[in-house]
Amino acid sequence: MSELHRLPAIDLQGLLESGQVSAREVTDAFLQRIEQVDGALNAFLHVNQAATEAADAIDKKRSAGEALPPTAGLPVAVKDVLCTTDMPTTSGSRILEGWVPPYDATVVRKYRDAGMVALGKTNMDEFAMGSSTEHSGYGPTKNPWDLERVPGGSGGGSAAAVSACEAPVALGSDTGGSIRQPAALTGTVGVKPTYGGVSRYGVIALASSLDQVGPVARTVVDAALLHDVIAGHDPHDSTSIPDPWPSMSEAALASAAEPSLAGVRIGRVTQLDTDGFQPGVRERFAEMLALAEKNGAEIVDIDAPHFDYAVAAYYLILPAEASSNLAKYDSVRFGLRVTPEGGQVTVEDVMAATREAGFGDEVKRRIILGTYALSAGYYDAYYGSAQQVRTLIQSDFRHAFEQVDVLLTPSAPTTAFRLGEQLDDPLAMYANDLTTIPANLAGIPGLSLPAGLAAEDGLPVGVQVMAPAFQDRRLYEVGAALESLVRERDGGLVSDRVPEPGAARDGGQK
Ligand code: GLN
Repeated sequence: MSELHRLPAIDLQGLLESGQVSAREVTDAFLQRIEQVDGALNAFLHVNQAATEAADAIDKKRSAGEALPPTAGLPVAVKDVLCTTDMPTTSGSRILEGWVPPYDATVVRKYRDAGMVALGKTNMDEFAMGSSTEHSGYGPTKNPWDLERVPGGSGGGSAAAVSACEAPVALGSDTGGSIRQPAALTGTVGVKPTYGGVSRYGVIALASSLDQVGPVARTVVDAALLHDVIAGHDPHDSTSIPDPWPSMSEAALASAAEPSLAGVRIGRVTQLDTDGFQPGVRERFAEMLALAEKNGAEIVDIDAPHFDYAVAAYYLILPAEASSNLAKYDSVRFGLRVTPEGGQVTVEDVMAATREAGFGDEVKRRIILGTYALSAGYYDAYYGSAQQVRTLIQSDFRHAFEQVDVLLTPSAPTTAFRLGEQLDDPLAMYANDLTTIPANLAGIPGLSLPAGLAAEDGLPVGVQVMAPAFQDRRLYEVGAALESLVRERDGGLVSDRVPEPGAARDGGQK
């Protein structure tokens, strides 16, 4: 089977379980794919040299008749924000170049316990700050749909890897959209679980009141498979929800088999579907609403007046938390150390020189912003007000979910933009998160799935489903139904139409 890398995770799982393919064959297929295309994409910062060994170990256990978890032998790509003891972990930053953590993130332990084989660590904006992966300390990742375009961010590496079939599924982290927005821009599926649904132990913290880990995949069912592996309580994370989660993959599989939206009330948020959005995005989004309605859903217009302030509130809360979280990169315990030349050098001099050399511009910008927002005299005006806005956004959601079961919005205002286009304009870059940020501020789950291609540029458009906190399962039910309807309409999945990296796209002008 030469095309193993193109198969969905659920099919690979079936082949592995029935012994039709070995974990080694599957792993080799993906490693070969990475070897072939990653030179053009730069989705991986590190390829796991021990992947084949891990796969062999699974095969050995299987042939010895050992009972294995269903996902045993399934490869996974890992965003470099997750601590791994067997691979370097940099969070996309030069300040952590070559650092190998002394412990594994809980989600890493979980995929390993589930027999999954890590293919490597994926590229990201430095410390997960960005919407294009151009802020990586290790060069940008390219979008497989068009190598002159960004894959979104911060998890552009995971999204590009999955989109280009370098991995069947990948892990990401989402603080303001870093799973969902790259998924939208690369024609893949990305999910931010309910805050507290997945452990953040061993996740390099960006903004602790917002961070969540989640899956990226090419189908809703595949995302659900990985979600099931990583979800659940962890005593090492004080924000972790103690209750057990129902199976997401069962829900997704059932809904994919019999897609029905009968009686589902879907809200369209007026504030998240405006003239400022790219016409092709609005078209595909409107079509998705019409498709849902045709299949039994009731569409309700929802007013969420405080969403207009979400980006502003987020870009105060996030830098404030990040400036505190990043204080630990002080050259003392780990990571880069730069000692300035000259005679008398103080500890402060070393710290300053290290942070100056090790952090990129966007990280420095946010540390300065955050420190300012938290400083005496400004705290109430900036950080305090932003927290009040956060409460108002939560109440907008509460009102919305009194009227509807889920909300449907575009996942991003535009399709993939060109490399360099927004790099010198932080406000333009921040505006990419307009539709994803509200879910983080409220702690609710969100799922982005492909809705088709935009007419004007032939690039993928994502739509986002949001549900009340704890109702992640609902996302998968609705997501799988919408995906099936789109697949039926288009005669295939959007993700199947990705060109070979470097080949010209059919349709749409460059
Ligand atoms: N683009 C957002 C930011 O730059 C999202 C970050 C994230 O989710 N990690 O902050």
